Amino acid sequence: MVAAYRPKNLKDALEAIIYTEYIVLAGGTDLMVKKKQGAGLLPAFDKPVLFIADLEELKQINEKEGYLTIGAACSFSSLIDNPLIPALYKQVFLQIASPAVRNIATIGGNICNSSPAGDSLPLLYALDASIIIENSCRRIEIPIADFITGPGRNMLTSSELVTAIKLPVLHFDYVVYKKVSARKSTALSKVSFVAMAKLKDSRLEDVRIAFGSVAPTIVRSRDVEEAIIYNSSNGSLDKTEIISYYTTLIKPIDDQRSTAFYRRQVCKRLLVDFLGNWLC
Ligand SMILES: Cc1cc2nc3c(=O)[nH]c(=O)nc-3n(C[C@H](O)[C@H](O)[C@H](O)COP(=O)(O)OP(=O)(O)OC[C@H]3O[C@@H](n4cnc5c(N)ncnc54)[C@H](O)[C@@H]3O)c2cc1C
Repeated sequence: MVAAYRPKNLKDALEAIIYTEYIVLAGGTDLMVKKKQGAGLLPAFDKPVLFIADLEELKQINEKEGYLTIGAACSFSSLIDNPLIPALYKQVFLQIASPAVRNIATIGGNICNSSPAGDSLPLLYALDASIIIENSCRRIEIPIADFITGPGRNMLTSSELVTAIKLPVLHFDYVVYKKVSARKSTALSKVSFVAMAKLKDSRLEDVRIAFGSVAPTIVRSRDVEEAIIYNSSNGSLDKTEIISYYTTLIKPIDDQRSTAFYRRQVCKRLLVDFLGNWLC
């Protein structure tokens, strides 16, 4: 028999996790797969389950002072339907799973699952998103790249919840998002790629590039992006050099979805295409 607790509000949830170690369940679309046993058997939850999907405090979406704050228990469908969410984010969320899964899968779950194949992650890295973590006595904000510490690992402790995601509202002139997978829907990524460029007076002012599913965590390098901005402004952008930098950062593996070789080739092509079409 699995013990479970459905708190009435966030305060109750945060108090509950001080005293008992719970398995936090939002949409359950990762957890139910991870914990499944044979046909007809209940999922193998070895600790009590805390249901957070109905907590109103975790389902708010607000825009204030140039930042968008998205509650951790917002489902991808609710984000796609919300007028505050920019079109680019919707383009990314629409390629996650299928409509039925998107109705219950949450953005907080995607982040806390911390898989390098989590499809919201390259976008969140590229936008410098912060993760808001709360326990019963404090609320902290951590850059997503620090929050995720490895494949399936992050810095959350059992007495904390991710309550929201904070994103700067930024405008980019060119945006590319590609999810490469076996099918158009309900398939995890072999590679995912987000690239964005902002121009000012026809000069490159900002660029963001992130790859998913090709290393233990999302690949993004602000140093390389700054080198692209600097060199493109003085006309000395060496695309071969940029590609070779990323080649050292991309460390894909062979798994059931793809091969390391294929992933490397796809990353290189996506990068060449972006640098060629948008930046030169
Ligand atoms: C058929 C199918 C297709 C899928 N396709 C895709 C896909 O295309 N792309 C993709 O990225 N993913 C996909 N997934 C994976 C999954 O749907 C997503 O990762 C989803 O966002 C997980 O959210 P959830 O609310 O269901 O998380 P849950 O399963 O509830 O939780 C996932 C993990 O996060 C923890 N957690 C959740 N919320 C919080 C919180 N607020 N605070 C602290 N810890 C928390 C849980 O304890 C658990 O460890 C798919 C899954 C299925 C079953």
